[in-house]
Formats: sequence, structure tokens, C-alpha cells
Amino acid sequence: MTSPSGTHPLPSYLDPNHLGPWGVYLQQVDRVTPYLGNLARWVETLKRPKRALIVDVPIELDNGTIAHFEGYRVQHNVSRGPGKGGVRFHQDVTLSEVMALSAWMSIKNAAVNVPYGGAKGGIRVDPKTLSRGELERLTRRYTSEIGIIIGPSKDIPAPDVNTNAQVMAWMMDTYSMNVGTTATGVVTGKPVDLGGSLGRVEATGRGVFTVGVEAARLTGMPIEGARVAVQGFGNVGGTAGRLFSEAGAKVVAVQDHTGTIHNDKGLDVPALLAHVQQTGGVAGFAGAEPMADDAFWGVACDILIPAALESQITKDNAGRIQARMVIEGANGPTTPEADDILHDKGVLVLPDVIANAGGVTVSYFEWVQDFSSFFWTEDEINARLVRIMKEAFAGVWNVAQENKVSLRTATFIVACKRILHAREMRGLYP
Ligand code: GLU
Repeated sequence: MTSPSGTHPLPSYLDPNHLGPWGVYLQQVDRVTPYLGNLARWVETLKRPKRALIVDVPIELDNGTIAHFEGYRVQHNVSRGPGKGGVRFHQDVTLSEVMALSAWMSIKNAAVNVPYGGAKGGIRVDPKTLSRGELERLTRRYTSEIGIIIGPSKDIPAPDVNTNAQVMAWMMDTYSMNVGTTATGVVTGKPVDLGGSLGRVEATGRGVFTVGVEAARLTGMPIEGARVAVQGFGNVGGTAGRLFSEAGAKVVAVQDHTGTIHNDKGLDVPALLAHVQQTGGVAGFAGAEPMADDAFWGVACDILIPAALESQITKDNAGRIQARMVIEGANGPTTPEADDILHDKGVLVLPDVIANAGGVTVSYFEWVQDFSSFFWTEDEINARLVRIMKEAFAGVWNVAQENKVSLRTATFIVACKRILHAREMRGLYP
């Protein structure tokens, strides 16, 4: 198998005909290549990860048996700075998925112009089946195994699906024990008392809200009274839903792994957040009607926020979507075919690589604060976050208008040019 130019043999796991998340990413790069001018010469560098580590993570379970889990850390690109991106614990994690997620981090970090490359990690495990002690042992052994490639100036993990501030505290401690000094800057998304940043937990949802409000302003859609449907009501979807409802929008439907609920008059979002906190999901919430999971995609709404996992909006459900705007809180929630269907229907898609960049932006603030040991107020953090998101979104919006392309392709144009320009200036070693 060779690349389109026929001159660069591709490793077998990079087969563009296999449309996993990595295949989706490769299609997105192909779409942007005609807009890269002379920098297109370097585009192959984006089509393979710089470094991919697969690790065996053995732990002793509470019942005395030994279990082995497969872990990954992929550094897609480090041309603009150290690797940066979260760690996901999920039973469906694969190398292909982590590769795609690491590549989307390269694009995202360049799109908001934070001085990072892109990386991502994961363990193929259902953490809900583990006790707290097992989860801690898993996290520590994984961190030790990937310790050969991470570090405050090499690659900085952070939370992602099913990982949180406690997991980051264990990662920070394990890395610190191994290097013999407390290294707070090795991970972000830590507890605030351990070098974490105020505003980090809410940052991704706040960024989703910020770009959504900007896009609504540019397209003349009032937020007051807008009907919002949210998939995933954790850190990202829950915060975005709350901010939209505080701004006067009505959250009419929410779906998560426990079920789908609906209330045409608008859900009581603070009560729903409390219910999710208590029960672990939206199912059984008293202030709503349950609805069939598949019906969620056809709900009458103005704004749809997929904030769960990849490949949720597909060619099978995209045609039924009634929203005028989709804001991607999740990474990779829309397949390329679905993207085209939404585009043809005139639905504005605010792509993940800009819409959910608020999390890594405040991760960057956390990392800077750790290095300087000087911590900012939450107001300062939120103000800087909003400024960066608005500026980045305005830049992408202009590129989309100038080139008559989707916001996704526009974001890829901006980001790929930044990455490949850095690559070109650095030159090839040796
Ligand atoms: N996991 C988040 C993301 O997908 C945050 C990554 C980070 O803060 O490094 O953007």
C-alpha cells in the first residue's frame, strides 16, 4: 500500500481504506491539502504519528488474580512544542482511536495557537468494573510505563473520557516518585490544591458555549429561547448545557449512556446536574419524559451539542437532525459522510478542533501557572479563555468565508499551516 503520491510506503496500520477514527482524520487532512500551497509538500508528516507506544499494564485485582490491560500513548506531532492531550479509560479504546485523538489534539492546539504539539493516551478498560484501589494501581502502573516518553517539557497528559482530577493526582505522584522530585507540570487537570487551575473543570464546556454564542451572533440566531439538545451530560455537556440555559436557552433533550430524556418546556438543568451527580446518569430524572435513544437525533431543536464519544452523527441519522447549529463538544462525533449531509442541509457545524479547545487552553494556563508557581484568579482565567476562543473562532470564520469552505476545513487550514510552517522552519533532522 502506498500514499496517494505513490512514493511513500505507508505502515499497514495507516490503511486509509479502513475507516476507523484514524481513517476519518486522514480524510479530513486530504480535504485540506489543496489549500496548503507550498506547505503541502510537508503534509505526509501529518499522516502518521511521530511516536506510538503500546504498553502492557498488569495489576493485581482485589480478588488476588492478575489482570492485564493494554495501554497507549501516542505523540502525533511535536513541531510546535511538547505533546499535549488527555488520557481516556474506556473498554473500546484502540490504537487507531488514540492515534486519531492525538492528531486532533495537534490540530486543536495549533488552531487556538497554544505552544503544543498533539498527543493522547488511553487504556482499554471499563473503569466502572474496577474498585478505587484497582483504578489507582492501574493508573500508577500505566503512568510508570509511559514515563519514558512523558514529562513537563516532553508530553503532558490531562483528563479525557472517564479520567478526572484524582487520576491526574495519581499520575503526577507516580511520575514524581520515579524522577525523585515533585513535578506538578507533568499533567494538567489536577486538583486545585495540587497545582491545578481554577476554571479547568468547566473550561471545555465554557469554550463550547463561547463559540456557540459567537456563531449565533454571526448568523443572527438569538440564544434567548433557543432549543438545545445535548448528548453526554458529564464535564463538557453538563457545563455547556448549564451555561446555555443560564443565557436563556431551553435544554429540551439530553442523552447519556443511561438513556434519553425530553422536556419540551425546557429541563431544570441545575436539578438534572444534581440528579446525574447522585445517580450517575440522566435516566429516571423526574422533571422529564424518557424517550427512545434513536429518537434523540430527530428532536426539534436549534442547537445540537454532541458531547460524548466519536462517530455519533452518521449518514444514518444526519438527515433527521433538525438543529440549525451543531457544536462538537466531543472529539470526532461527526463522520465525514454526515458532515456532508449536514452541510447540504445548511446546518452550521462548529467542529471539535475549535469548539472543544477550551479544555486544553486552560490546561495551558495550568501548565504556565505550575512553571511560574504563581496562580491566577478564576476571573482572570475565564477572561483569558474567552478572549483566546473568540479570537481563534473569528480567524477560522474569516478563513471559511474567504475560501468558501466548512468551518472544519477552515480550522484545518489554519492549524495545518501553523504546524507545517513550524516543520518547515525547523527543517528535517539530520
Ligand atoms: N482531553 C481534552 C481534549 O480532548 C483536554 C486535553 C488537555 O487538556 O490536554 O481536548
